[in-house]
Amino acid sequence: MRKKIVAGNWKMHKNAEQTEDLLNELIAKISTDTTAQVIVAPTFINLASAVDHLEFTNIDVAAQNMHQAESGAFTGEISADMLQNVGVNTVILGHSERRAIFNETDALIASKVNTALEHDMTVIFCFGEELKDRQSKNHFNIVENQLKDGLFSIEASDWGNIVLAYEPVWAIGTGETASPEQAQEMHEFIRETVRKAFGSDIAEDVSILYGGSVKPENAKEIFSKPDVDGGLIGGAALKADDFVAIVNAI
Ligand code: PEP
Repeated sequence: MRKKIVAGNWKMHKNAEQTEDLLNELIAKISTDTTAQVIVAPTFINLASAVDHLEFTNIDVAAQNMHQAESGAFTGEISADMLQNVGVNTVILGHSERRAIFNETDALIASKVNTALEHDMTVIFCFGEELKDRQSKNHFNIVENQLKDGLFSIEASDWGNIVLAYEPVWAIGTGETASPEQAQEMHEFIRETVRKAFGSDIAEDVSILYGGSVKPENAKEIFSKPDVDGGLIGGAALKADDFVAIVNAI
């Protein structure tokens, strides 16, 4: 049975004090017998303290990005080893903001994925079409190419460390959500694409999260779709009550 996962991407929000406050609220409010794996992704500077804070809880910590090189003259960057050294073994890669604002290409993302997998880290691999792609009915092609170019050079044995996060760019931070039917249609296509390339066992086992304006009000319906295995949450992850309600919707 594949894992249900709810991950909160905090982006460039929450200083150290606010991070601690939000974590305390989540610890208090997330039920210890929740069936979902819960992950939070604070900013780099607060990762180590978040790991310490969450040590005896059922909440995991992810980084929002990392560099592909092992080390070197890359001012401002963070390596896989540095993340693991403070206890972070999961990383979000390929987020649409990294692609659009920081010009990350599929090739660059593929090399980050490879480095993370070499370190036996779990990768939450984000991808999704822009509005113009959906309007021109090119969204399936775009998604297939992002998967092939960014991810499909990995070994079959690495799939246990991959979580897919389909995030239509037009639905991120816009208040516009893909309908549960649109999400299911694309998730089914994604699973089929994985099946064709890597076989049924891998396709059935990989968790595919939906991301894009998930809120307490729409989470249950989206999560009820058979190929939606949880969510990657942006804005609503910044308020404990909203995030907990989304976790409970699984
Ligand atoms: C995201 O940035 O990954 C995201 C899904 O954001 P939001 O939930 O705010 O649309």
